[in-house]
Amino acid sequence: MPKRILVTGGAGFIGSHLCERLLSEDNEVLCLDNFYTGAKRNIEELMDSKKFELIRHDITLPILLEVDQIYNLACPASPVHYQYNPVKTIKTNVIGALNMLGLAKRVKAKILQASTSEVYGDPEEHPQKESYWGRVNPVGIRSCYDEGKRCAETLCMDFHRQNKVDVRIVRIFNTYGPNMNQNDGRVVSNFIVQALKNQPLAVYGNGNQTRSFQYIDDLIEGMIRMMENESGFIGPVNLGNPDEFSIKELAEKILKLIPESESKIIYKPLPQDDPKQRQPDITLAKQMLDWEPKIKLEEGLKKTVEYFRKIL
Ligand code: NAD
Ligand code: UDP
Repeated sequence: MPKRILVTGGAGFIGSHLCERLLSEDNEVLCLDNFYTGAKRNIEELMDSKKFELIRHDITLPILLEVDQIYNLACPASPVHYQYNPVKTIKTNVIGALNMLGLAKRVKAKILQASTSEVYGDPEEHPQKESYWGRVNPVGIRSCYDEGKRCAETLCMDFHRQNKVDVRIVRIFNTYGPNMNQNDGRVVSNFIVQALKNQPLAVYGNGNQTRSFQYIDDLIEGMIRMMENESGFIGPVNLGNPDEFSIKELAEKILKLIPESESKIIYKPLPQDDPKQRQPDITLAKQMLDWEPKIKLEEGLKKTVEYFRKIL
């Protein structure tokens, strides 16, 4: 049955893909965004649909809307952007989540909170299971984001226990694909843009730190399965691709995909609190959602390179 669905952060990278998928399934979609890191270009094609509505709003302020479901994605995701105004980031994560959970409670909507692998911090357990509590620096430059997301998870669980709000928590691992902002600052878009512009690919640190990269379509499938599952499973659940690569390997793969590039790899200092390794354990998502990623890194990178070739 078609529903009325609110997507906060709907003009951002993940939000725009989610809005598109929900519209394609005949739902009415309310895309809410303050355009801090989002872009109209990401949702331009969706604007033609009568079932799509754009609301310019900041989730740190309350809003009343009649909806069946809420996907709460609003929050800058790239370290460069979330560290630009850290106080705003924590407000978006905490007050924003409070407002959206309050709305869900009031109109009896289901709410899915976009959390992050960053709640595990610089982990001592590898790969990371949902049961791992994490190793997060509470006073570092990443804290506005990772502690903010941890608090948003706490709020979800407390609204659930105290007010019976139907919540879902997904912990998203590094995701990439079309619609990433070219100035996003995360590693995949940085390297592709640098390679296409014949600029050096700047690897931070020695490049031996690892990440596991998930293509956007796999993530969207997982998020929708989580929202729609009626088994009583509310998470938190990891959504990520367990194939792990070092940042140096990633740079090399991207250079191979753009053979005409004259770029070389250079090394710059590692940012403070940069996690050394990250890989999701997705046993729980497999069991509870019958979900696992399907798109291999090369295939996803190809599609992403095509996108950046078009927009640059
Ligand atoms: P993004 O920066 O592309 O999108 C975030 C969107 O939220 C933007 O459109 C921005 O304008 C909007 N926004 C920010 N603050 C807002 C506010 N106060 N009110 C209203 N709108 C606001 O980032 P993304 O990669 O699409 O990430 C979306 C969500 O997924 C975020 O919550 C992020 O923490 C989470 N996440 C993403 C990744 C990833 O790899 N992309 C990993 C883990 C978690
Ligand atoms: N990184 C890099 N060059 C860049 C951007 C990032 O070497 O231009 C590194 C960064 O230090 C980190 C990894 O790539 O070790 C992933 O960084 P990103 O900001 O994409 O995500 P996160 O650190 O949040 O996982």
